[in-house]
Amino acid sequence: MASVEIRGLRKSYGATDVIKNVSIDVEDGQFVVLVGPSGCGKSTLLRMIAGLESISDGEVRIGGKVVNAVPPKERDIAMVFQNYALYPHMTVAENMGFSLKLKKVPKAEIRAQVERAADILGLAPLLERRPKQLSGGQRQRVAMGRAIVRDPQVFLFDEPLSNLDAKLRVQMRTEIKALHQRLGTTTVYVTHDQIEALTMADKIVLLNDGNVEQMGPPLELYDRPANRFVASFIGSPAMNFFSGTIEDGKFRTRSGALLPLAAMPDAAPGQPLTYGVRPEHFRLDPDGVPVDVAVIEPAGSETQLFGKLGDDDVVGVFRERLTARPGERIAMSPMPEAVHIFDGQTGKRL
Ligand code: ADP
Repeated sequence: MASVEIRGLRKSYGATDVIKNVSIDVEDGQFVVLVGPSGCGKSTLLRMIAGLESISDGEVRIGGKVVNAVPPKERDIAMVFQNYALYPHMTVAENMGFSLKLKKVPKAEIRAQVERAADILGLAPLLERRPKQLSGGQRQRVAMGRAIVRDPQVFLFDEPLSNLDAKLRVQMRTEIKALHQRLGTTTVYVTHDQIEALTMADKIVLLNDGNVEQMGPPLELYDRPANRFVASFIGSPAMNFFSGTIEDGKFRTRSGALLPLAAMPDAAPGQPLTYGVRPEHFRLDPDGVPVDVAVIEPAGSETQLFGKLGDDDVVGVFRERLTARPGERIAMSPMPEAVHIFDGQTGKRL
């Protein structure tokens, strides 16, 4: 196992900068998730760690050693891709042991390594099958098995669950996390899915347009987003935002609704601000603000409400079942201690 240190990393294609001065520390044994919208540079960054993309500027260290000029094969990493790239004519066991065979590892040792990985992944009964005789989840496990047998210093995952259906994705997410807890191998995992990032990571790195917007433990990004971009990306349904100003100790939205504050933010009188509140941080409250109900979506364990607060769209998530119907009015209040205030211009947290 090893740490991965990224220092002042840049990548340009011609005049286009796609990675702009990124520095990240992945500690030995840590599970770090690179997340962000499509095109933000996650895969490029991962491929630079793997050695599959050249580095325009900066440094990548694996286990303390600068690897900028080290070819991928010699970096002691194993990568798991979105399309598992299994050899169709080989059995599961042959697929998993192939990299060791290329390294001329003795047959008995390959067999032992493959069996160990198969045990960990529950693949033992499937070792003699070919990929087309496997389900999507089983193929994904074989791809992971292939990485495990190499016993690398670092695992790199590039959107490994994107091809699976929703239910299997949730299951594999738990399996990968359990696998990491068992093996403790340093892992860098790329996804566009904020739920995967929240549930799997020790540390999230949220990228946007080639820059790091925020990095830290998942709940830190959730509870204290550094800016409006982070606040809107992490959490689903997304945080509600209202533009407005502070007036007499309350937040006044553009359309005149008065929302509560637990503390006064450090803002000048009349300064344009954004009030952020997550859908789950509303409660039903007869003394709250009036919301015109547009759609109610019962999901069993919770109910989502979509409506209008003045001119602004609003989404609330409630544990209780709602009897309100579309077209009716309902009164609700943000929980003041859970409110986020951002600078209306820069989007920075205040
Ligand atoms: P992500 O994985 O976050 O979706 P990528 O790392 O694949 O994003 O791409 C980051 C940006 O770099 C995108 O805008 C993409 O169009 C651009 N890009 C990727 N590869 C190349 C290339 N070979 N030439 C030019 N631009 C590229």
